[in-house]
Amino acid sequence: MPAYVDIASCDSCHDRHEPECVRICPADIIKLDRPSGKAEVTELDCCWECFACVKACPCGAMAVRGAADVVPLGASLRPSRGLASIRWSVTFRNGAAKAFEFPIRTTAWGSIEPFAGLLPATAEALHSTDLCGETTEAGTARTQAAAAR
Ligand code: SF4
Ligand code: SF4
Repeated sequence: MPAYVDIASCDSCHDRHEPECVRICPADIIKLDRPSGKAEVTELDCCWECFACVKACPCGAMAVRGAADVVPLGASLRPSRGLASIRWSVTFRNGAAKAFEFPIRTTAWGSIEPFAGLLPATAEALHSTDLCGETTEAGTARTQAAAAR
């Protein structure tokens, strides 16, 4: 059951560099429709039903029709992402509702330094044999080995 867009809620991410749903979709199947500027899922049979677009959309405009093994037909399943947890809300066909909340972090928000320990991105690096993303130690060891040949 693929994702779909509530075009009345979609604001085209007009205040962002790139639409969040387009940026995050691992299947690369979300595009902005022209000329409406609203998001659309272009290849329904290629949707992974991963809910990434639903979690990322700042307007709550993305939704996934839950597959029968997740929620029964006619029910809805919506994630709400917070800074420390994610809440999954299920509304069943008979109107009954359930919610499940799970922590999503083990570290403080903003505390991770993703490039710590990696070679800095400098103009000189363009002429270096070191590899992007390589640790400083690995780069130094490889450079020394190359120099010793
Ligand atoms: S559910 Fe996943 S694969 Fe499907 S459109 Fe959304 S982000 Fe893409
Ligand atoms: S992330 Fe939401 S608001 Fe932004 S373009 Fe996609 S559906 Fe529209």
